[in-house]
Amino acid sequence: MEPVTEWPYACPFCWEENTVLIDLSAPPASLIEDCRVCCQPILLELSMSMHGIEQVKASRSD
Ligand SMILES: [Zn+2]
Repeated sequence: MEPVTEWPYACPFCWEENTVLIDLSAPPASLIEDCRVCCQPILLELSMSMHGIEQVKASRSD
């Protein structure tokens, strides 16, 4: 399994597709990324399962 994975998500501000790099050896519960299109801060909340990442929820970080 790749130790780092690229996960796609839609920006909650402009709905453009972004990707985030997630280190599977130490996945964070949440992180903040700036949208590459509109540069707004996006809160990403990770749900993990035994198989790896289950879901990444993107929401506005104000
Ligand atoms: Zn955006």
